[in-house]
Amino acid sequence: MVGEITGGDAPLGCIPAHASIYLHIPFCEQFCDYCDFYSVIAASSTDARFERYIDALLADAAEQVHTLALNRIISVYIGGGTPSLLGAARLSRLVSGIASLGAAPIAEITVEVNPQSLNHIFLELCAKSGISRISVGVQTFHEPSRQAVHRAGSSTQVREGLQLCSEFFPSSFSVDLMSGLPFQTEKTLAADIETVLFYKPAHISLYALTLEEGNRLESIVPDQDSAAALFILGRDMLENAGYEQYEVSNFALAGKRSLHNIRYWRMENWIGCGSGASGTIIDDGTGTGLRLTYKADVDAYLQDRHGSYTKEELDRTTLIKETVLMGFRYADGPDLALFKLRFGIELEECIPRTLARWQANMATVSRYGNHPPAKVHALSPEGLLFLNTFLHDAFDEIDRMSKV
Ligand code: SF4
Repeated sequence: MVGEITGGDAPLGCIPAHASIYLHIPFCEQFCDYCDFYSVIAASSTDARFERYIDALLADAAEQVHTLALNRIISVYIGGGTPSLLGAARLSRLVSGIASLGAAPIAEITVEVNPQSLNHIFLELCAKSGISRISVGVQTFHEPSRQAVHRAGSSTQVREGLQLCSEFFPSSFSVDLMSGLPFQTEKTLAADIETVLFYKPAHISLYALTLEEGNRLESIVPDQDSAAALFILGRDMLENAGYEQYEVSNFALAGKRSLHNIRYWRMENWIGCGSGASGTIIDDGTGTGLRLTYKADVDAYLQDRHGSYTKEELDRTTLIKETVLMGFRYADGPDLALFKLRFGIELEECIPRTLARWQANMATVSRYGNHPPAKVHALSPEGLLFLNTFLHDAFDEIDRMSKV
């Protein structure tokens, strides 16, 4: 079954009737100095905009689901910002409204939370409302690093929050950590990881800090070599503890990968709702697509969301590059069957020289144990450390191919 949408002059005619949904909650209690995500300060959980914002999100999602004739929502990710600032009752209203838009149960619903927003009542209501994954923003327990980046909350609150998550979402909570923070050393990062492991999360993300040029933290973060060594130390500790690196920054116990994020890395369709959110729908028939991006302006979204987004038509070459870019972040590589379906060409016909040149850094099917795929093109863990150079080679080859 296919839905039909029209993207400006380029009609999209062949899209699956299922997609994921990203909902952006652009509110934070204070800004962290390294952060590039769009958010505004909401000083308390009674902020007058919250109810109106949820109404707008639900109307937005309903409209997009209807326009695309979607009959199934595969996964939902409520990110931000700090979604937990909304409180459990509002999150519950949001989740049940979204669930009512599809005909089948949603396979995974994730909510990002900050540890200081957590308590028994919050987590109990989240679990009852159908939220299946909680993603906790820890970043570090090391107080000098937390203070240097203006991270809200204390390391004690973080520990208490993790303890609660381990009780209410014992096999399905995720923790975000960062490497390369100011005042971080191998010792403090190792202590962060050991502390997190104590709570046995199912999934851990370890993000290497990247800063926009001119960010005030530039002068106090570890130098490039030290930052790379920190990430490798963290990666190796997580792998040794049984967390498989299944994406550049993501590690999971067996069977605990994030379904929603895998869909991004494999360029499955998703719609984005909320100020600052964006969604991408790809036509399997032509390999072209449409991206809808909301302005990072919560007031504009609340007043007139139809006037606050831009539509971008994505041509075949752009989408081939994005598929390669996203797919090679993932330890299983791009979805080869979907690549062929959309672009009418095998991946190895598209970037043969790059694949040959990087052969020594490619994952082998033997790593898939008893269930090896017939064919896979993916970088090995060591290859992932050089992802940008790989992509540079691949994009050069794609550009040359598209000029022929
Ligand atoms: S709480 Fe999260 S979204 Fe908000 S400023 Fe900090 S890192 Fe960014």
